[in-house]
Amino acid sequence: MDGQASEFVSYYGNSLKLVKCSPRVAQSYNIVAAADATIWQVYPELLASDRKSLVEAVLAGGIPRSVAIEPLPPFGSRSLLLFSTERGLGVLETRDAVAASQASIGDPDRALLLHQARHDALTGLANRRQFSHDLEARLPTKSGQKFALMQIDLDDFKPVNDTLGHGAGDIVLKMTAERIQAVLHDRETAYRLAGDEFAVIQVLDDQPAEAERLAESLVGAFKDPFTIDGISVFVGASVGIAIAPRDGNTGEQLMKAADIALYAAKNDGRGRARMFNRSMMIMLEQREMLRRSLRVALGEQQFFIEYQPLVKVAGGIVGFEALLRWRHPYAGVIPPGLFIPMAEADGLMGDIGAWVLEQACREALTWPVNFIVSVNVSPAEFLSSGFTDRITRILDEVGFPAERLEFEITETVLLERTSNNLDRLHTLEVLGIRIALDDFGTRYSSLSHLQNFPFDTIKIDRHFIDDIETNPKSQTIVRFIIGLAHGLGMQVTAEGVQTAGQKAWLSRRKCDRLQGNLLGAPMSAEFVSEFLRHSSFAMSEGPGQRMIPDSD
Ligand code: C2E
Ligand code: MG
Ligand code: MG
Repeated sequence: MDGQASEFVSYYGNSLKLVKCSPRVAQSYNIVAAADATIWQVYPELLASDRKSLVEAVLAGGIPRSVAIEPLPPFGSRSLLLFSTERGLGVLETRDAVAASQASIGDPDRALLLHQARHDALTGLANRRQFSHDLEARLPTKSGQKFALMQIDLDDFKPVNDTLGHGAGDIVLKMTAERIQAVLHDRETAYRLAGDEFAVIQVLDDQPAEAERLAESLVGAFKDPFTIDGISVFVGASVGIAIAPRDGNTGEQLMKAADIALYAAKNDGRGRARMFNRSMMIMLEQREMLRRSLRVALGEQQFFIEYQPLVKVAGGIVGFEALLRWRHPYAGVIPPGLFIPMAEADGLMGDIGAWVLEQACREALTWPVNFIVSVNVSPAEFLSSGFTDRITRILDEVGFPAERLEFEITETVLLERTSNNLDRLHTLEVLGIRIALDDFGTRYSSLSHLQNFPFDTIKIDRHFIDDIETNPKSQTIVRFIIGLAHGLGMQVTAEGVQTAGQKAWLSRRKCDRLQGNLLGAPMSAEFVSEFLRHSSFAMSEGPGQRMIPDSD
């Protein structure tokens, strides 16, 4: 940053004495002769206590700061960019356009442009460019020096933009910048990297203790709602922390480490901070590996389905739920909870879902004719275009009656703000396919969903069943759901029934169907016929027959 002819740049060494300056500084401040001048004489405005501490902070920490100072005739408003040099402090002065013309600088003031190019117009924070510059400037770290890099990402910012508009989104971003700034101290600088991504560089040696302290304040700063036009909006923040040089000694390594830690914070339930550690890296690499091999899984015939019996409380099997499994060539059998979100994110779920439906219908054709097969449909799949056409084509091809097919959907499907999701449910209903509402009681349960659509069955999430014998709250909820469903003409299935006591309780409360390891764990297609042969309740229920002995 050597003095360009049109720039106001000056350098200060020991005791902040002027070391050298650009001709424009010398000319404007008339200090050519006063080689002994200190920064306080050149810029007396910096003596104000808040500004003085800024100067000291930059001097000590080296993270550049900009300071606005009042107009000084004949110049217009100015701001000083303070940056550290090897031996002390540098000052780059930037002026507004009026000042520039008054000072008869012919071409646009490069310094001002430089300042603008390095700050975010919306929040006033330093921008990504400045961030990269500052990060690189500190790397590799000098021996014994440490610093922390924090990536901050807002949780649930998108819904604010989507529901309250971009104006509201901008307000949240501005307030975010203020909240972040409010918890920062000396040697801590905030940046806005993009959208709702922010970062902080903390140049303190007592790591990771200092980073942990700051991260806690940062997360805490988002506990209170933002108020926009009288509306309270909760927007949390997740923080990923990386420490240099421990977690990396190049910008790329550190950013990656902070990114991975941020991902872990989000995965752990958001609204929290996580410090990078090596095991996160291994987990992420494994995930990436899985993700890549998921692309070929369908073609390589690595998927298979297990079937779990759905049993009537009164006795007799209703059918089976199809549960997808992935047999990975090296990793072994991977549960759907792990790979289905990846498949959804990568847009693979449409093809995989079509395969599940076709395979399940083919296998169900070998079962007794009164058995249904229940197939889970993920939201992305359900909402994808051509979904219903695909279903009818598969049913036709396989020759499977629609009346024997049940789809399990979750309430997430109904949350999406598309007008056609209810239409789609109605189309399926007209085709004769049954619809079950899966995992009821978790997520976004809303009674209006039950009013809007006549589900055939509600499946009560197994978390309520787990402690149904002992927890009065679970009992109240389950009793309520059963009463509600029956009142609306729907059946109720209890998921995850594992003990005779749970079964007894549920049958006393007139639950219709049970599913769980007590009644039968998920099993391979080949084992279904074996299961039916040996199972005491396998035969379709005849008149007056009670296939499952009821211990109630
Ligand atoms: P879900 O539809 O709620 O399926 C029930 C889950 O509970 C299954 O887990 C099942 O193995 C498990 N489970 C059943 N009985 C018991 C029990 O007594 N105790 C315990 N602890 N667990 C029991 P699984 O197979 O891991 O599937 C997890 C979820 O993955 C399913 O939850 C479903 O939402 C999804 N899924 C499975 N297959 C498919 C599929 O083909 N397509 C889509 N879109 N999602 C699927
Ligand atoms: Mg299910
Ligand atoms: Mg379920």
